[in-house]
Amino acid sequence: MYLSKLFIPTTKDVPAEAKIKSHQLMLRTGMIKQSSAGIYSWLPMGFKIMKKIEQIVREEQNLVGAQEMLMPTIQSSEIWKESGRYEDYGEEMLRIKDRQGREMLYGPTNEELVTDIFRSSIKSYKSLPQILYHIQWKFRDEIRPRFGVMRCREFYMKDAYSFDLNDDEAKKSYNKMFYSYIRTFNRLGLKAIPMAAETGPIGGDLSHEFIILADTGESQIYADKRIFEINLDNYDYSDNSLKKMRNDFSLMYAATDEKFNSNEFEKKVKKENQIKTKGIEVGHIFYFGDKYSKPLNGLIDTQDGKKVAVKMGSYGIGVSRLVGATIEANFNNNVMKWPKSISPFDVVIIPSISKNNNENIQKAEKIYKDLKKQNIDALLDDVDENMSNKFKKHDLIGIPYQIILGSKSVNDKIEFKELNYKSELLSLEDIKSKLKNK
Ligand code: ATP
Ligand code: MG
Repeated sequence: MYLSKLFIPTTKDVPAEAKIKSHQLMLRTGMIKQSSAGIYSWLPMGFKIMKKIEQIVREEQNLVGAQEMLMPTIQSSEIWKESGRYEDYGEEMLRIKDRQGREMLYGPTNEELVTDIFRSSIKSYKSLPQILYHIQWKFRDEIRPRFGVMRCREFYMKDAYSFDLNDDEAKKSYNKMFYSYIRTFNRLGLKAIPMAAETGPIGGDLSHEFIILADTGESQIYADKRIFEINLDNYDYSDNSLKKMRNDFSLMYAATDEKFNSNEFEKKVKKENQIKTKGIEVGHIFYFGDKYSKPLNGLIDTQDGKKVAVKMGSYGIGVSRLVGATIEANFNNNVMKWPKSISPFDVVIIPSISKNNNENIQKAEKIYKDLKKQNIDALLDDVDENMSNKFKKHDLIGIPYQIILGSKSVNDKIEFKELNYKSELLSLEDIKSKLKNK
């Protein structure tokens, strides 16, 4: 892609309502445009990044055996009346009437709908366990939408639902999702801490929020930093291994405000290992047993001929929130650097352009074609402006690698730079192999 052709409406000015760096950066680099309070259009570059995040989430869900499907955004109020949540959900639910006067709603979450699908299709313990998920827009009429894509009214979420015969089996599904979440956030270049969260009436240790460290987060967190030393390569997908993994995580102190106990924290965690900071919730997993299957009659036949309500859990990841959260975690000293796994382009080629010399741009085009052949997704900055402005711009766009065709590149040695590091002179072949291996 040539930068001059890319729809990327960058701006110098930041609107006053953008209070945190991710919101400011996303507006400045033309990733999103607000259409009304808490509702955004995703412009090409922002959309491309979100799609890459979505794909990583999808791959990791599939690896634990979750099956992708798609439920609609608009739901009937009937099932919500059956579960009792139609009244309880309150003002956050956007309620709509269709032309027949039927009460509909824009889904804020999908426990009811997925239970309805389950109860009409699965009757026997033989078909369990099942984990279904979809990646779909949600609407919650948040009282104070803010921080750009971090707290929107319309947002993109992966939500999965597990169905099991009993609590012990359900725990296995829960552990799979837990593992899948840690792997997902690692691949996104994020350090996420699983925090035991309020479990409601069921109790136990089967609710976790996944929180990444960032000064601008909404939750206050306390943790033992050795939690980051837990190496996922030590586990596999077997139930026993995942049980051990859960246990290893649970030995490390990690709590949000609500569960924080100062004495316990000081006793369990040495001073040099204490993390006390703010964090952003990027995922939440929850086991709730038969909370929805009971009122909705999601029954299965057991081996001994009884009928029991299926045991369910739900598992959310804020896909659109993750775009902002990644920026909060990676934008430092006015430089944004996307993790390679979700960067909008693999590399940007930046030729110095002048009126009476088009040698650099020709060279750039040649390199561009060459990279394309190797499936390396390059951006060519063919915009006619001086190099210092170009560098400032690319510090914000955040493509992690640059090929710079200016005074330093001579003959077959080309200036190659990774953001936040010194540049080096390399042959094109070396650059290609670097980009492929990274
Ligand atoms: P929060 O406490 O931040 O309101 P929640 O507990 O309501 O989150 P869930 O219902 O568990 O969130 O939703 C799963 C995930 O969806 C959250 O972990 C978060 O990443 C994302 N999410 C929730 N609400 C919003 C929102 N208003 N805007 C963007 N993402 C959201
Ligand atoms: Mg909420």
